[in-house]
Amino acid sequence: MAALISNDGCWRVTYGEPHSITHDELIERHPQKLRAVLSHLGVQNVDPSDYQVANISPYKIHQCLAQSVRIGRILLAGDSAHLCNPFGGLGLSGGIVDVGGLVDCLIGMHEGAAGEDILDRYSEVRREKYEKLVNPTSSHNFERLFDQDPETAL
Ligand SMILES: Cc1cc2nc3c(=O)[nH]c(=O)nc-3n(C[C@H](O)[C@H](O)[C@H](O)COP(=O)(O)OP(=O)(O)OC[C@H]3O[C@@H](n4cnc5c(N)ncnc54)[C@H](O)[C@@H]3O)c2cc1C
Repeated sequence: MAALISNDGCWRVTYGEPHSITHDELIERHPQKLRAVLSHLGVQNVDPSDYQVANISPYKIHQCLAQSVRIGRILLAGDSAHLCNPFGGLGLSGGIVDVGGLVDCLIGMHEGAAGEDILDRYSEVRREKYEKLVNPTSSHNFERLFDQDPETAL
């Protein structure tokens, strides 16, 4: 995936590599990977002297959900509760919604409008949102990248 992210020509480029290779190998392979990506965008024979690398940040993709986001007095929110691949931008935003919901539960308890069982409801609702919304949507985005023919994707 290649996306223009600023008005002064800065691109964010994301591509896959085997898990088995080292960090040094990732850096070494970077120019040839970039050349391949750019050639699909119609820019041929790009040399590292043609561009400036602002940052390289390898990461592993996960797709998982905690069995419960409440265990007694321990409450999970954000990435500690669920992880998803970054395609679609649902990781951070899902965590923010967790916290918004949890704050409402805690205020309700503090004001005497809700009992402690509302924390189980928090767990049920947030897990359901991951299973019905975040996981299917982000998985679909991820599969779209893999299922495409690079020759025709653009
Ligand atoms: C490449 C990439 C792109 C992404 N793009 C997007 C996007 O476009 N939109 C989006 O919504 N989401 C995106 N995400 C997901 C997003 O970054 C995460 O969902 C979000 O940062 C999770 O926030 P968090 O606070 O739950 O966890 P974290 O950001 O992981 O914060 C946890 C913090 O706890 C600290 N910590 C860990 N252990 C301890 C300890 N024992 N004691 C004290 N501190 C500790 C860590 O250092 C860290 O600062 C992306 C993720 C990746 C990897």
